[in-house]
Amino acid sequence: MLIQRFLQLPMFSTTRALARLALSLLLMVSLLPSAWAEPAEGVVAVPETTVSLRLNWFHQFEFAGYYAALEKGFFAEEGLNVHILERDPETAVVDDVVSGFVDFGVADSSLIVARMNGKPVVMVTPIFQHSPMVLISLAENNILGPADLAGKTLMYQLDQDDAVIAATLNEVGLGPKDIISVPHSFDDWALLNSDIVAMSAYISNQPYLYREKNIEINIIDPANYGIDFYGDSLFTSERMINTHPNVVSAFQRATIRGWGYALEHPDEIIDLILRKYQPEKTREQLVYEAKSIRRMIQPDLLDVGLINRHRFDRIADIYRERGRIPAEADLTGFFADDYLVPADVHSVFLHWIVPLAIISMAVLALMFVINQRLQRIVYQKTHDANEAREKAERYLAILDRHTCVMRVDSELKVQYISIAFCELTGYESHQLLGKPHTFLMDESNNGLKIRQLLEATSAGKNWQGEIYLKQKNGGQLVMDVFVEPVQDGKGKVLGYNAVYLDMTQKKNAELLSITDTLTNLYNRNKIDALLVKESKLVNRGSPVFSIILLDIDHFKLINDQYGHLMGDQVLREIARCLKHNIRETDYVGRWGGEEFMVICANTSLMGAEALAEMLRAKMEQAEFPEHIHATSSFGVAEYFPGESIDSLIKRADEGLYWAKNSGRNCVRTRPCHVGSA
Ligand code: GH3
Ligand code: MG
Ligand code: MG
Repeated sequence: MLIQRFLQLPMFSTTRALARLALSLLLMVSLLPSAWAEPAEGVVAVPETTVSLRLNWFHQFEFAGYYAALEKGFFAEEGLNVHILERDPETAVVDDVVSGFVDFGVADSSLIVARMNGKPVVMVTPIFQHSPMVLISLAENNILGPADLAGKTLMYQLDQDDAVIAATLNEVGLGPKDIISVPHSFDDWALLNSDIVAMSAYISNQPYLYREKNIEINIIDPANYGIDFYGDSLFTSERMINTHPNVVSAFQRATIRGWGYALEHPDEIIDLILRKYQPEKTREQLVYEAKSIRRMIQPDLLDVGLINRHRFDRIADIYRERGRIPAEADLTGFFADDYLVPADVHSVFLHWIVPLAIISMAVLALMFVINQRLQRIVYQKTHDANEAREKAERYLAILDRHTCVMRVDSELKVQYISIAFCELTGYESHQLLGKPHTFLMDESNNGLKIRQLLEATSAGKNWQGEIYLKQKNGGQLVMDVFVEPVQDGKGKVLGYNAVYLDMTQKKNAELLSITDTLTNLYNRNKIDALLVKESKLVNRGSPVFSIILLDIDHFKLINDQYGHLMGDQVLREIARCLKHNIRETDYVGRWGGEEFMVICANTSLMGAEALAEMLRAKMEQAEFPEHIHATSSFGVAEYFPGESIDSLIKRADEGLYWAKNSGRNCVRTRPCHVGSA
């Protein structure tokens, strides 16, 4: 029950509540009377207590259970020294018990009347499930049933038997005034010695006496008319049970054990009665009585001492109907069980339930504390995880909106593409998802780059490089790409993730800063920088490089003849011509006005002269708009390690000057001589 209640506690009630409960139980255990404890085998549970029992008749088998309990040591085992006293005709058993003259008594169902009329008696246990009280009459009087008693004289114990008799008569429609009542003389032979027609008797006693003498009698058993009262019961006083509840329950236990023994061993107890108690009965009478009493107790059907409170209610009703008890009186406080906690309950409580409850509570308290801690940890972890997830989601959303990210699956198809990437390229995500990973790549990409990207990722390596993408509107994007392979736990590549950085504007700006806007060739700055770079390479041991400086011949005339804009157009055409005819490793830029410079990397003077000559020839052959023909003069110089750039340029310029002076449209080289640097 306690455990159940404990379990019903709300899970989040405080640990203090649990601690209080455990403490209360411990206190309860420590305060339990020691007498409640089950005695160890052979050990007396309480100090020996002397108590007395008043029988409601003289020694006979009717009290066999008490004799057995005394003789077999059941009382002693309970620490009781019991004195069994016979009925004293001078006193009422109830009065003896209530006054404290004796501690326990035996009474029949009339005990209810005593209780309900203010006598503080408490029924400890019923022994006889049925009352042995019957009405007997001589057979010659022909009294076959209660109805035949009308107008007849009936002898019975007025205060004791009247309710049963009145109820029985009532069952056949007779009232108290329909018979003549006389008090019991306690003469077994009153049917013969007086004028009475019938008398109350014990089924276990008088019928035997009459039959023994072959006197035919008729018996009226109230039980046959539905008036089924309890017979002998053990009772005590309220004072006794309140002051010595342990003694009462000990007496109860020993009595029930005693009756169990007596009903199992009737002959042994009959011998005992004959030997120790000087009964008025013979062995045969006791044997007859024992059999009758067995029928009263019905041990084969019911446990000795079984109590049915509804039957007591019914008995009380009958007394109430007879006016023997006040209408408002009830049976509260009548039953000993209301005062006692059964020993086995104590024992189970003490030996099992309390320790189990304490252990369970300790375990539960521990579990509760662990649970609380776990919950806190789980809560914290969940909270942290949620926070981290939300943070990650926020970051991802930011990344999604502001970063160009693409995930490619193992079949090299687009699996995911960020919003930013879609916006940059001008596509909707659904137009890109599932497309080959090269879908966005511009044709201008070097095929080698894409191969390198795939080789790196399929080997589980990262790759970084510049890639050109095409926009939906045809625009081109220059992107720095960082590619990382996606792998499963075993290292199998499942695709790749790529982060793109839009370098288009930067590249454009860069390009602008190094590009001559008219011709789209490198500008002077870039050429200067390239000269420095190449000279450094040579000075670090790389092969030499050479430069070609060229100036359009009589360009002024073109301007003058065709106008400045046409002059510009010619400049652009010549630039295109130069660009198309130099090698991939060479650089060409506008040196100024209508002068250009070609930087020939890894090229000696001879190679540069050949190139200059080739360019000269191309220009000579070229026809520009308006059938304009233009030639150029070329100065060539090879860089020598340690030489300054200015010196190099000067030598090329001298070559050019020389070419001009040599009639133009030719290539000249100003040889290097030591000290010119
Ligand atoms: P030369 O054969 O001696 O080089 O004769 P030239 O007429 O080319 O003489 P020079 O090189 O001294 O003159 C360059 C002319 O080129 C001067 C200028 O009008 C013209 N020029 C320079 N820059 C530009 C330009 O950007 N556009 C146009 N249309 N003409 C330019
Ligand atoms: Mg010039
Ligand atoms: Mg010129």
